[in-house]
Amino acid sequence: MTVISAHSSRAQSHGLTLYAQCSSLFFAHSMRYTTQFLLSALAAAQFPAPGAPEIAFLGRSNVGKSSLLNKLVGEKAAKVSQTPGRTRAINFFALLDGSQRQKLVFADLPGYGYAKISKSISAGWPEFIEPYLAIRSTLKLCVCLVDSNVPAQESDRRLIDWLRGEGRDFAVVATKIDRLSGNQRTRNLLALRQGLELDELLPVSAKTGYGVKELWARIEAASA
Ligand code: GDP
Repeated sequence: MTVISAHSSRAQSHGLTLYAQCSSLFFAHSMRYTTQFLLSALAAAQFPAPGAPEIAFLGRSNVGKSSLLNKLVGEKAAKVSQTPGRTRAINFFALLDGSQRQKLVFADLPGYGYAKISKSISAGWPEFIEPYLAIRSTLKLCVCLVDSNVPAQESDRRLIDWLRGEGRDFAVVATKIDRLSGNQRTRNLLALRQGLELDELLPVSAKTGYGVKELWARIEAASA
């Protein structure tokens, strides 16, 4: 079992203020979770019974989803999700607190590929994905990953527009931000924000950990 730490949004704001002065105080505020693989679902009938607030992770193949999950909850989640046969499934993970209670559930959705999405967001996706996103009662936030090194893609746009239409809370994160520096970073982020019509775009790097605290704060705010 992988031990990871996350930061509550309250701890986060304290942390941001205090971190420069006293890092041990910052860590004293952090919460610890353990990650437990629940199941891989290949059909709606296999979804776990609704329980703790759920966060879904979505993105095109190769966007860096496994790496980011690895950074957020530990290697176990990434390994399970990349196991052959599970890449077309929704992989569910519970995040347990110190009393082994489920605090959050992470749902890792299959990468939606490079194919141009034609009719609906689910083209090229297993058919149970769209109902999952539409009706899952415990789903609190969709974390949509886009690559900061790649211009806005039609497939991402369709997904985001569809989530907007469904009234789903979502956060778009721009992955692999460590590959960009200075002006290029600013330019790409602006272009993505404009191309996808976003108010909020969170740059992250699974490699350096950049933006991971902010993403945790967003996840915890959505699931509070
Ligand atoms: P997935 O298909 O969306 O799960 O993508 P992966 O997590 O497997 O990542 C795809 C590729 O991008 C791999 O070669 C990773 O090493 C690379 N990658 C993922 N995240 C980052 C990152 O934050 N920075 C950099 N530089 N490379 C990354």
